[in-house]
Amino acid sequence: MSQSPDFSNLRIVLVNTSHPGNIGATARAMKNMGMSRLYLVQPKEFPSGVAVGRAASAVDVLDNAVICASLQDAIRDCGLVIGTSARSRSIPLKLVLPEQSAEHVYRALPANQAALVFGREDSGLTNEELQLCHLHVQIPASEQYSSLNLAAAVLLICYEVRRRFLRETEAESVRQEDYWDHELATGLQTEQFFEHLEKVLIRIEFHDPQNPRQLMQRMRRMFGRIRMDTMEMNIMRGILAHIEFHMDNPRRNSGDDKTG
Ligand code: SAH
Repeated sequence: MSQSPDFSNLRIVLVNTSHPGNIGATARAMKNMGMSRLYLVQPKEFPSGVAVGRAASAVDVLDNAVICASLQDAIRDCGLVIGTSARSRSIPLKLVLPEQSAEHVYRALPANQAALVFGREDSGLTNEELQLCHLHVQIPASEQYSSLNLAAAVLLICYEVRRRFLRETEAESVRQEDYWDHELATGLQTEQFFEHLEKVLIRIEFHDPQNPRQLMQRMRRMFGRIRMDTMEMNIMRGILAHIEFHMDNPRRNSGDDKTG
């Protein structure tokens, strides 16, 4: 991967987590996805050896975790706050899919601070807490059992966010490969090239317009795959012009022949 996404303005907020193992597993999931800013709102047990054990090589994420007294504190400077919810509420919320929430994060960063907020293992986020969020995301899990483990939910949402950012990096690399040192040949230049190519192919009797056998269509498809830039197009036109020149000057052609 050419460039890693910059998630320095994205934070993961865990509200009132009971099990320190989930905090450790969240730290690991975050680091796997290239994220590092963990905010803990009134964790039941932290710091914790259990959390360290589950974090594996992501202990640095735990070490840098910010402990907050309330969710308001944790999101004070955030322009985008996305809450996660496993279940429908008595007052229905407008729910978005994980990939839609990823799109919002993608658009908000890096100009804004953004937060992804996750609730308690037993009861999730309260309605009051959800009201502090601009968007609510629900992972479309099985109706039989829709509540994921907390750290699994974090991993899934963070993965979607990462995928969205990587798509952009992939798109960038395509752009860089396709549009390098010279501009791409224009439509007009391309048409002139094909006219020229056809003329020369007829002259050298490779191409018979009475029996074209889709030759020019195939040439167009082939050159279309290559997408020549202006420099390459000039070289091709130069080659064609030289073929014509030597056909017009056969004597010079044989005179140049040093093999005879
Ligand atoms: N019984 C709780 C589930 C809590 S699971 C409830 O009814 O809300 C712990 C946390 O994991 C949730 O608060 C949420 O942040 C996240 N989570 C679990 N399953 C989820 C899902 N299907 N969609 C979105 N978030 C989910």
